[in-house]
Amino acid sequence: MSLQALIISDGWLEPITQVQVLPSPFFAPRECDEEINLLVVHNISLPAGRFGERYIDDLFLGKLDCTAHDSFCDLIGVEVSAHCLIRRDGSITQYVSFLDKAWHAGVSSFQGRERCNDYSIGIELEGTDDIPYTEQQYQGLAALTLCLQNEYPGIIMENIVGHCDIAPIRKTDPGKVFDWHYFRQQLCEKSIRNRT
Ligand SMILES: [Zn+2]
Repeated sequence: MSLQALIISDGWLEPITQVQVLPSPFFAPRECDEEINLLVVHNISLPAGRFGERYIDDLFLGKLDCTAHDSFCDLIGVEVSAHCLIRRDGSITQYVSFLDKAWHAGVSSFQGRERCNDYSIGIELEGTDDIPYTEQQYQGLAALTLCLQNEYPGIIMENIVGHCDIAPIRKTDPGKVFDWHYFRQQLCEKSIRNRT
């Protein structure tokens, strides 16, 4: 699967053959003059530490059966989403149009600007703070980031952060195991390859 071929059309990733689209009800329109210039990297797994199940989709779609696992009782009534999820095998699901705000950041602040949902894109990696991410996830994230940077040039390298950076008291994701240096390296390499 060549993720480098991803493009964005009217806020959604294409081609649809490469990306699963599951529209979430948990979004709000952006203000029309709001520039998108922040990318926030998260992690999520449901139940914690278990991968490949459908519960993340269910949560973002508002369909999670909170009786399915003991730990899900904390999620009753929770309305959250992200623009995209990258699973362990690198496959991408999009839940919210990039033109809309996904509900991923919560109370947050970046360089003195609050309410990061207003001007950011949120990408979830299926994972935890202490289990290393897969090579496919780094490649998928780099390809997706490059595609987003082409569409939203305000997402410069310094404006790609973790949830832990914009909500440091509440959040730790994507965790210490996320290799920022390696990710930036992959992003630079893809960017150079695209230009030559
Ligand atoms: Zn997060």
